[in-house]
Amino acid sequence: MPTVETVKGPVEVDQLGPTLMHEHVFVLSTEYRENYGAGTWWDEEARVADAVAKLTSLRAKGITTIVDPTVWGLGRYIPRIQRIAEQVDVNIIVATGLYAFEELPHQYEHRGPGLVLDIPEPMVTDFTRDIVDGIAGTGVKAAFLKCVVEAAGLTHGVDRIARAVARTSVETGVPITVHTSSPAQSGRLALDLFAKEGVELTKVVVGHAGDSNDLDYLMALADTGATLGMDRFGLDLYNPTPERVRTIAALAERGYADRMVLSHDASCFMDYFGELYDAVHAAAAPNWHYEHISDDVLPALREAGVTEAQLDQMLVDNPRRYFS
Ligand SMILES: [Zn+2]
Repeated sequence: MPTVETVKGPVEVDQLGPTLMHEHVFVLSTEYRENYGAGTWWDEEARVADAVAKLTSLRAKGITTIVDPTVWGLGRYIPRIQRIAEQVDVNIIVATGLYAFEELPHQYEHRGPGLVLDIPEPMVTDFTRDIVDGIAGTGVKAAFLKCVVEAAGLTHGVDRIARAVARTSVETGVPITVHTSSPAQSGRLALDLFAKEGVELTKVVVGHAGDSNDLDYLMALADTGATLGMDRFGLDLYNPTPERVRTIAALAERGYADRMVLSHDASCFMDYFGELYDAVHAAAAPNWHYEHISDDVLPALREAGVTEAQLDQMLVDNPRRYFS
């Protein structure tokens, strides 16, 4: 039986169970938090306790695994995630890669083939170390790769990151989740690039595909073998839940339940609104939390004609295949 790396070590893929394929524990700018968080909106102990409570509550709904694509650019800090993982009965699978919409971080700008410091692509080196040796001496290994292809398309920086992610995937065999813009249909660009780099597209989740209700676009992506990330439930600003449900039901009816995964892209805390996070969250996106799928979406999908077997495919079988 294949295993997948989690924060607490390898787990057999058939033990993952119902899995939310794109949830963050925290979304933070480390530099912002270090300079402006203390004494205002960031209390380390309170936030860790809050995350433990939220994941424990999620576990009580029957979800046994979350897949957390928090990489550099979103505030990845594994020791904090380890503290939380120790206190919950939920598998947490973590990622490597880079979250950048247009530009490379300067730390990679001048290092690489043909650059000032002419060395092999340092992103491949760094991502591979996270996968093979573990992240920053924690012993926790990344089990998938994350990058972004947004509305700006394949800028110089995005192109270089995506190719580094693709090469790392080809060399290590770990799968990819790519953040895309559904309005810009950038999933097409991402899959095109990955295919050219030799990535097996069955190993790719097109993140945020569920922001789209354009069945032609979604079927075109899925017909490559890639999996659609129907992964922003509760973010009604981008696509309201009833629309997301209708689109999934339509795709399931057309035979695509084997190429969709479900999630919220939620987090226990994100620093975009500083100390007003809880208030803004409650006002702007009250359903954007870990339990919306269990509480509201699964009943709505059943109501819309999606079968138990299809729900199992999206929650259990497809995540297991992705990590196999
Ligand atoms: Zn996300």
